[in-house]
Amino acid sequence: MSSTFVILLVGALLCVLMLLVLVSLLRSSIAGIREWCAANALAAGGLVLYAYGRELSPFVAYEIANGVYAAGAVALYAGFRRFFGLRVSLPVLAGSVVAFAGVIAFFHYRVDSHAARTIAVALFQGAVCAGIVMTIQRSRKNWRSRYPYYFTQGMALAVALGHFGRSAVYFVHAGDLTSLLQPAPLNLFFLSLGSFVMPALTFGAVMMVHDSMMEKAEHAANRDFLTGAWSRRAFFEIAEREMSRSQRTGRDLSLLLIDVDNFKQINDTYGHAAGDQVLIEVVLRAETVSRSIDYFSRIGGEEFAVLLPETSRAAALVVAERLRAVLERKPGLGVAAYTVSIGVATLHGTESYHDVMKRADAALYAAKATGRNRVVCEPD
Ligand code: GH3
Ligand code: MG
Ligand code: MG
Repeated sequence: MSSTFVILLVGALLCVLMLLVLVSLLRSSIAGIREWCAANALAAGGLVLYAYGRELSPFVAYEIANGVYAAGAVALYAGFRRFFGLRVSLPVLAGSVVAFAGVIAFFHYRVDSHAARTIAVALFQGAVCAGIVMTIQRSRKNWRSRYPYYFTQGMALAVALGHFGRSAVYFVHAGDLTSLLQPAPLNLFFLSLGSFVMPALTFGAVMMVHDSMMEKAEHAANRDFLTGAWSRRAFFEIAEREMSRSQRTGRDLSLLLIDVDNFKQINDTYGHAAGDQVLIEVVLRAETVSRSIDYFSRIGGEEFAVLLPETSRAAALVVAERLRAVLERKPGLGVAAYTVSIGVATLHGTESYHDVMKRADAALYAAKATGRNRVVCEPD
């Protein structure tokens, strides 16, 4: 059994293994997984055809094998684009595979050149890998952590450079290199590289999928489903942490409690869906005047809490007034007008979270009792 045969079959088996791993991730419904499944199935098929090349007709060994493997590479690229929410043009991708198979046929039937076929394969595969590098780079702002993206990008870059280097070597030495299926050391090296590209890049893709699933799970656990603000559970954890930090460093920490005025009436007049829309809008509007270190949470139906680290009582009052103003929507045709009342409290010494909350709640109650649409601060 020749070493080339073994390398190609091991490559095909690894693709099958990665395909089975990907199938287990299908139910996450993350975009790109279907394309990566197709990529590994096609690559496994292509590698098996390469392995049995000598026993097959030249048409199957050259045009079909290269076409199938190229379709796998293109499907892999499409998977990365879909994963990042980018558009995929199937006619363009399918057209590129057909054109590539045409080039192989040309350098088989019209000009029979092993070197030219090798260069065509290397350039095509190198271009696909370069496309993957650029797709990942373009989506940099969507990266959640770094490792899976750097891993995949680094791997694709190394393979692209390997393929471009290989085509340069074949271009310069056309004629004096042994056939790719001869076990010369350089060819075995390139063959191993080529056979393990698909599984290696799929490893990267699987890491990216896990990263995305972790992000989703964290979001579901820590964010309010309707508005995307911090959930009540996460807010209590954050508040505990920020309070001990504030007590350790001696820096101020303030809390605002916000309640939408007469919300029940909004629901009764415009319907529950319009009420939900108001809640979503409250969070969106509040974000426009919040600092990145502030924590905005939906702690109940139409009640929100904002934790303001490093903020004194006087500064918190200013923030609260700014929020009250931005959260006031004047009556308009067919849309719900609304206002909010805000209670403000600042952490004193080593008191507990519940003590501050109680004082902020009392201030909010006072704001409601004195006419709503106003900010009331706890007494000094
Ligand atoms: P106040 O000015 O005193 O705060 O009066 P209010 O009507 O806002 O207060 P109340 O507590 O009586 O009403 C709150 C309403 O919020 C009642 C409840 O049906 C509604 N609500 C709670 N959660 C949701 C939600 O997720 N969506 C919608 N649309 N309404 C909600
Ligand atoms: Mg309320
Ligand atoms: Mg209310």
